[in-house]
Amino acid sequence: MREFKVVVLGSGGVGKSALTVQFVSGHFCEKYDPTIEDFYRKEIEVDQTRCILEILDTAGTEQFASMRDLYIKNGQGFVVVYSVTNRQTFQDIKIMKEQIMRVKGVDRVPLLLVGNKADLEHLREVPTGESLALAQLWDCPFMEASAKNRTNVNELFAEIVREMSIQPVEE
Ligand code: GDP
Ligand code: MG
Repeated sequence: MREFKVVVLGSGGVGKSALTVQFVSGHFCEKYDPTIEDFYRKEIEVDQTRCILEILDTAGTEQFASMRDLYIKNGQGFVVVYSVTNRQTFQDIKIMKEQIMRVKGVDRVPLLLVGNKADLEHLREVPTGESLALAQLWDCPFMEASAKNRTNVNELFAEIVREMSIQPVEE
């Protein structure tokens, strides 16, 4: 069975752990230790093909920038998360994307842009159209999601598998 290494990136508090735990364990984590950085494994079926996902839920607590470089180097696909309720987190992902591209040193990397906390419509700061424009610029898929309501959680992990499947990745 093919194995894919996915790295979940984004600023603190955007819901990286909530999305990962919701996907792997099927429940919403109201409070998850923000310093925990962990690997999860889950077998899933995408488009009639079973595969194993190894997911790194990052915490951004690395003491050295080189550690971040290392897990980017080891990652094959990247789920880049911001919160639709926090414009700053949308700015932050642009820097993270640059770092991914620099470390990978290739033109194209399997990547998915995710706007989490879509259930908090009344607190929205980032209009969907802006994210669509960014996704177009990056030439990558984009989804809004809610770890709380389990909206697009399975779908986003399926989508990054598709991205990794269609693009040549280093084994
Ligand atoms: P991380 O630092 O990116 O791992 O963020 P966490 O997963 O720890 O989430 C930070 C906070 O946002 C927690 O209080 C979560 O309960 C909350 N949260 C995460 N995802 C959602 C979501 O989709 N909707 C809502 N309403 N809250 C969320
Ligand atoms: Mg976390």
